[in-house]
Amino acid sequence: MGESEGRSEQVIQDWKNGCLKKIYNYIGNQPDIASVGPCRRDLYKRDLYNHKGVQMVDLFNASRGCRFSCYPCAVSYLGGRKFRPRPVDKVVEDMAGIDNNRLFIVDNSLAQDKQWEMDLFRAIAPLKKKWISHTIEDDPEVLDLAAKAGAWYVYQAVYDTSDYIKERVKRYHDYGIGVEGTILFGLDNQTEDDIKRLIDFLGEIDLDLAEFTIFAPFPHTKGHDDLLRQGRIFDFDWDHYNAGQVVYQPKHMTPEKLQDLYEYAWKSFYASESQEAKMFRLFCNVALREMEEGTYRPRDRRLANKSFGRDVDRSKRNVNVRTESQKLIVKNAE
Ligand code: SF4
Repeated sequence: MGESEGRSEQVIQDWKNGCLKKIYNYIGNQPDIASVGPCRRDLYKRDLYNHKGVQMVDLFNASRGCRFSCYPCAVSYLGGRKFRPRPVDKVVEDMAGIDNNRLFIVDNSLAQDKQWEMDLFRAIAPLKKKWISHTIEDDPEVLDLAAKAGAWYVYQAVYDTSDYIKERVKRYHDYGIGVEGTILFGLDNQTEDDIKRLIDFLGEIDLDLAEFTIFAPFPHTKGHDDLLRQGRIFDFDWDHYNAGQVVYQPKHMTPEKLQDLYEYAWKSFYASESQEAKMFRLFCNVALREMEEGTYRPRDRRLANKSFGRDVDRSKRNVNVRTESQKLIVKNAE
């Protein structure tokens, strides 16, 4: 448990010596962040991370930990309540060695140290990678640098119906950065009407994608401690802690009503355009930028009938009305 840099050697040694322990617990004892080195990406079977010839993004860490401790989040327990940025030169070296132009920077939030964030964006811009990330600092200078450094789209929490959220989404778009809203249902301050208003609001703020989750009281969070103390958790089956099932008694509605609202949110947001079609639009945006910069890689025709290693059923082909630029990308890809 915890971070493995500098520790896995001991595990292998114990295994070789026949004295492997059941648990190696390094939670709360994080290694020096500068010791985080490049992954052995040469071990990947890349053909298995491929959808119809399009290589999936590589996951990448530029930092770990978080200086916040939000109510439903276990990151401060798992990664430490401290922002731990990797040295920028190491990040650049690591990123440059990845044989993929599209990455997902999986850091919890990049908006934790403005100077490091700006240094990072300036340093990675020449690599011409395109990347997805969680929140970026809400600052015009930082957003401009992020866009120039290849920000493709971000996951941004949409937690209320305020003008601030509306403008936050617009500011990303102003810099050509897409937005996937992450929307959490079931906190104690939400009534049924609040959730319905929030779902309606999503139609007004021009999100590119949305992902809905139901509050899950994960151990080691304040949310878990509160609900446990109040006797409101009724389901302790870990398989149900998938953020799509209600495992506790919500404050202002029945568990069934919360579950219904969650299902309704998915259906309502993707009613006029499917998730695949919206994702395709984002894909086209990044492909066009890559074509302009000369980094676009056409899809691998060998894998056109495969998705994550499995055969694709071509009879279910999704035919959408496409814009001229989308048709150009499809043509180039084929
Ligand atoms: S990772 Fe995000 S949600 Fe979790 S504590 Fe940090 S800012 Fe809050």
